Amino acid sequence: MIRFINDLNLKKQADDLGVKIWFAPSFLFLMMGVITMIAMTATYYISKNYDSPEVLAIAECVVTAVIFIIGNSIIHEVEQIARLNKMKSEFVSIASHQLRTPLSAIRWETEILLSKFAAGLDGRQKEAIENISQTGQQMARLVNDLLDVARIDQGRLILKKEKVNLTAITREVIKNVLPLAQAGNVLIIFDEKNPAWVVGDGDKLKLAIENFLSNGIKYTLGKGIVEVSFSEKGEFCVLSVRDNGAGIPESQQKNIFEKFFRSDNALKNNTTGTGLGLYITKNIVEQSGGKIWFQSKENKGSIFNFSIPIYSQNLPDGRQAHN
Ligand code: ADP
Repeated sequence: MIRFINDLNLKKQADDLGVKIWFAPSFLFLMMGVITMIAMTATYYISKNYDSPEVLAIAECVVTAVIFIIGNSIIHEVEQIARLNKMKSEFVSIASHQLRTPLSAIRWETEILLSKFAAGLDGRQKEAIENISQTGQQMARLVNDLLDVARIDQGRLILKKEKVNLTAITREVIKNVLPLAQAGNVLIIFDEKNPAWVVGDGDKLKLAIENFLSNGIKYTLGKGIVEVSFSEKGEFCVLSVRDNGAGIPESQQKNIFEKFFRSDNALKNNTTGTGLGLYITKNIVEQSGGKIWFQSKENKGSIFNFSIPIYSQNLPDGRQAHN
């Protein structure tokens, strides 16, 4: 129903698509309906008043021609929008690729400065170089996210299917995000059990876990706790990240996996973020055959989960062995 009302908001649709209102597909579709109705009524009156099959045939030809012309404009507009969308994804992809090289150079040069020439630098100079290095890393992450988004949008995100130790990669991610947690006064608890072997792309699963964990840390106001745990659900291993942070307002929870979406409270409290992490994570998890879901309460906290197929080997007698 809401979608139908939105479709009727022609001005909004035209603005969203960046076209004039009379080129918006819904407007053209509406026009086609109106013209069909007028044409049918006119045909009815013509056939009633003129007892001539020629006039009726001409009237029907005119109606068909008008419907054909409008239908053709709708297809043309939709094609144009699809083409522009493809061009946009290609542009993002090329621009991101080009940005990678200078960013790597900045990273290497700052690392050399800090490791080889640190003795010749005073405190202020060292701090400035460290800032450049951190900003460079932030930009590199953004560029990688944009590349992943472009790959997803073009259906080119290729995931490996390998045997992955989820416990080991979670441990690695925790090590990576520890400085962020310490800076934000957040405690990370990992209920570590036996190795959990799953099937997926190790690097991309690492990115998915990092997105969950860094969100838990970022959106935990002040002294917080972020807890990582595993559980088994049939043929799947479920990874859960619980925090006692800002939570997500109920009215905005339906948008949380949309590209570039950030909730109002996140925008107010935490300026760093792009709204791409969960969109990418959802695509990685679903393409790996798993599911993603969450529960959240504003000012109480959130729990984000994803499931991923457990690695299993078929035994000769048909049973399955999990290791
Ligand atoms: P980013 O964190 O870069 O903004 P994400 O895609 O990772 O992008 O998250 C999208 C939005 O979802 C965030 O901006 C925030 O509003 C909300 N969000 C995600 N995780 C949490 C969390 N653990 N607690 C509260 N809000 C969250």
